[in-house]
Amino acid sequence: MSDIDALVAGFKEFHEVYTEDREGKYHGLAEYGPHSKILMIACCDSRVDPAIITNSSAGDLMVIRNMANLVPPYDAASTSYETPAAIEFAACYLQVEHIVVMGHSRCAGIRSLLTRLVDDSDPTRPLDKWTVVAEPAAKQVLIEMPDADLDDQSCACSRKALAASLNNLRTYPWIAERLSNKSIAIHGWYFNLATGELERYQEDSETFEQLF
Ligand SMILES: [Zn+2]
Repeated sequence: MSDIDALVAGFKEFHEVYTEDREGKYHGLAEYGPHSKILMIACCDSRVDPAIITNSSAGDLMVIRNMANLVPPYDAASTSYETPAAIEFAACYLQVEHIVVMGHSRCAGIRSLLTRLVDDSDPTRPLDKWTVVAEPAAKQVLIEMPDADLDDQSCACSRKALAASLNNLRTYPWIAERLSNKSIAIHGWYFNLATGELERYQEDSETFEQLF
């Protein structure tokens, strides 16, 4: 069976459940309106699908996926619209109550950034331009861990970039306003692919604790 045939076969199974369970967990999904109170921002890596990792169903999560699960700082003049637009929609229209930024180990986007900095190459590719968001985190890792191997540097950088993305979220006016009136909470999670464990970022101590 080809990869595409496998996708179609998978959809057939989903379709049967979906059409048979319209009054159950899929009830009302065809209607407009807020179906989720949670936004997850995750990497586009196929191994870290938020819905699969959290055992969620259609309608449970709004999800933004991009290279390295990065959140750029708010910039009204920016021409990078995709992630900010989805954040605005989630915060202002869906009125989500939680935003989870989920990083992960062995992230190719973070690895690519570190390699570029070590090679001192010009950031010309779209991937390079996008991961500039995590450049301060990567530079800090290269200063603190100059002799570590690339895997260890990447894991450390993913964690620092995650913390930076949480800080960047606070620069969005509508997020800042909702944080101030406590109508929204933001969370940092880190999924370790090697162990299957999930860690939670502690803002106060700037450390990660094992969640599960
Ligand atoms: Zn990744």
